[in-house]
Amino acid sequence: TRNMISHRSEEYSHILKNVLGGIKYILNTKNDVIIFPSSGTGGLESAISNIFNVGDRVISLSIGHFGDRFFKIAESFGLNVERINHKWGRGVDIDALHKVLEEDKNIKGILVTHNETSTGVISNLCKIGKVLKDYPNVLYIVDGVSSIGAIPINQDEWGIDIVITASQKALMTPPGISLVSVSEKALERSKSSNLPKYYFDFSQALKYQKREFPQNPYTPPISLIYGLEEAVKIIKEEGLENRYRRHKIMRDMIREGIKSIDFSLVATEEDASTTVTAVFVEENRDDKITEDLYRKFGISIGKGQGKFKGKIIRIGHMGNTYYNDIFYFLSSFERVLGISSGKSLQKAQNILSNQEA
Ligand code: PMP
Repeated sequence: TRNMISHRSEEYSHILKNVLGGIKYILNTKNDVIIFPSSGTGGLESAISNIFNVGDRVISLSIGHFGDRFFKIAESFGLNVERINHKWGRGVDIDALHKVLEEDKNIKGILVTHNETSTGVISNLCKIGKVLKDYPNVLYIVDGVSSIGAIPINQDEWGIDIVITASQKALMTPPGISLVSVSEKALERSKSSNLPKYYFDFSQALKYQKREFPQNPYTPPISLIYGLEEAVKIIKEEGLENRYRRHKIMRDMIREGIKSIDFSLVATEEDASTTVTAVFVEENRDDKITEDLYRKFGISIGKGQGKFKGKIIRIGHMGNTYYNDIFYFLSSFERVLGISSGKSLQKAQNILSNQEA
């Protein structure tokens, strides 16, 4: 709600610098981070259109609905994409990745979803990075839309070439900004890319961002940049390690609470996301649960997507969600289901107490 300022002013440049520095800190990277005025999907599209050529061989390691979307974007730009399908509820199959890299020496890139929001699953980016160290021609591209700011990432150490994220999830800002962190190797590759782009051109964005007083080529969403500057401050104040720990505790509180009232979870223990929990419900009971939660308790949760439509509900617990929100959710969930035993709350309390001990 602050006043607008000119996006060509020094004042704006200063704020932009703080935002870019903050995102680098969160990603653990020295790479350039590019800002686009778009939702996360625009950032995903920019990664494809800036570094590849028509017909390039790319592997999509899809573990759910958003992995499928990344695959479709690559396909729509005329890349030669192979999708390795996974059982929904599991992370990336490292053996399958190994196998495809050994069998096909023409692969130019792989597409991975860090946190699959449709199933509540995290993929192990560190392990994937270790495999890819032996394949230096393969660019490692990660969709971090629902992970960055809540789930650990070491972009440089893990050899990730591009990370895409967006303002509206664990970065706690309204929707409308995508952030794309690009390695030197990927920028080098972008010089020979022949795919069409204008608004989403990395080189144009970097030309302006690298000025002594950084700017964007076109009018940026200034209010959202204000928001991101504040979000970065909040994240630094809490500290990344504390933040990651808090998300893990919230995940365990939700999972244990929900299991205690006899629901089954989509993600296995080993792959479970710390930002989203997906829960199986009786076929088509999702509408009633989500409507009641919203109408009676003001809680907004998600339903199933793709092949999980009508089968699951998804609870987001990221960013500015705290332990009291988990208790409020579990209590409301029990009431919507007509249980009200407090069993799930007790489980969640046990998890929290054990952490504090
Ligand atoms: N990838 C993932 C993992 C997501 O969770 C989302 C949004 N739910 C997207 C991509 C698409 O982002 P947007 O809706 O901001 O375009």
